[in-house]
Amino acid sequence: MKKGYFGEFGGCFVPELLVPPLMEVEKAMKEIMPTEAFQAELNDLLVNFAGRSTPITFCPTLSKKLGFDLWLKREDLLHTGAHKINNTLGQALLAKHMGKTALIAETGAGQHGVATAAAAARLGMECTIYMGAEDVERQSSNVRRMRLLGARVKPIENGSQTLKDAINAALRAWISSQATTHYCFGTAAGPYPFPDLVREFQSVIGREARAQMLERTGALPDYVVAAVGGGSNAIGMFHAFVPDESVRIIGVEAGGTGEPGCLNSAAINLGVPGVLHGEYTMLLQDADGQIEPSSSISAGLDYPGVGPEHAYYAKSGRVKYGIAYDNEALAAFQALCRDEGILPALESSHALGYVLAHADEFEKGSRVIVNLSGRGDKDMDIIEKALGL
Ligand SMILES: *Cc1c(COP(=O)(O)O)cnc(C)c1O
Repeated sequence: MKKGYFGEFGGCFVPELLVPPLMEVEKAMKEIMPTEAFQAELNDLLVNFAGRSTPITFCPTLSKKLGFDLWLKREDLLHTGAHKINNTLGQALLAKHMGKTALIAETGAGQHGVATAAAAARLGMECTIYMGAEDVERQSSNVRRMRLLGARVKPIENGSQTLKDAINAALRAWISSQATTHYCFGTAAGPYPFPDLVREFQSVIGREARAQMLERTGALPDYVVAAVGGGSNAIGMFHAFVPDESVRIIGVEAGGTGEPGCLNSAAINLGVPGVLHGEYTMLLQDADGQIEPSSSISAGLDYPGVGPEHAYYAKSGRVKYGIAYDNEALAAFQALCRDEGILPALESSHALGYVLAHADEFEKGSRVIVNLSGRGDKDMDIIEKALGL
């Protein structure tokens, strides 16, 4: 495949001034990342700071109800509460080895901002987080976390004042700060080499899950399922399983309320190809090519695009992309709380919501593993309101 592309998707559509820092990251990926010294240091951080490995958990009650074996990969148990720390520790360490002293990052819901701030603090780096002004307002508890972890939070007043605008602001800021600063991108999307870089750091999820399923059940799973926002937890979970032809892989996008014409975040199912944030991919856009506002009950899935590798797997058919609606995610959230004693993030609840809503499409007796990308404590206010509690 052409460098930086997954089939027709991907690429590096950025202003000339952003090419040098992106090429510098590409060089570091080739020359620093594979070294034993780097891998040993990263592994130490993942194990002793972030809490890897994460277990896989069998769900006895739900499995009995469903008629197939339901397993969870427990990324919710990681430090800062989600898979995002895998990526931020990796990028922060790489940046440090590249001689950078500062990190910048975008954040929407604030989860990536918190994970970046934690990695920066741990590695003694400065940290600035770009966040849409409306998100700063909506996600105040994560803003407070970032500040306590020593990060500066810059509210962005442009455009829709959300994630899309925060990414544009961070890319602009990188142009003038590239000598000292690494842009720690939050998902497996954006210009090359970010989709590859983030996937490399997240693919530990699938490598572990694959080995753990073989060890615990003596076989590969029949289905692997994950929620897709920008696509980092999903690609991290899927990657080790892509060559396993017997394993069926399902990505789940957020469909919103499910009413006709409702706002959603289902870029693969409901979008068309176009360019955003430096990559050619599936995007929610109107007939004039304007990016449509995305919306999801789970802030972490609220992105109008998707990483190029997912767009490619959708087109090739290797991965099936389904939709879960708000009510399906909420039902799954409640089921996992009450039947299994686990409070999942609303993002992860979409993956589980798809499995529960489409249970009759999974063969009886099959083994299904869902990536539980994060914990749900952050979502309690939204969930209680939605459920009328
Ligand atoms: C951010 C987030 C997501 C969505 O991001 P991806 O890059 O698609 O993984 C999913 N789950 C949780 C818990 C998150 O915090």
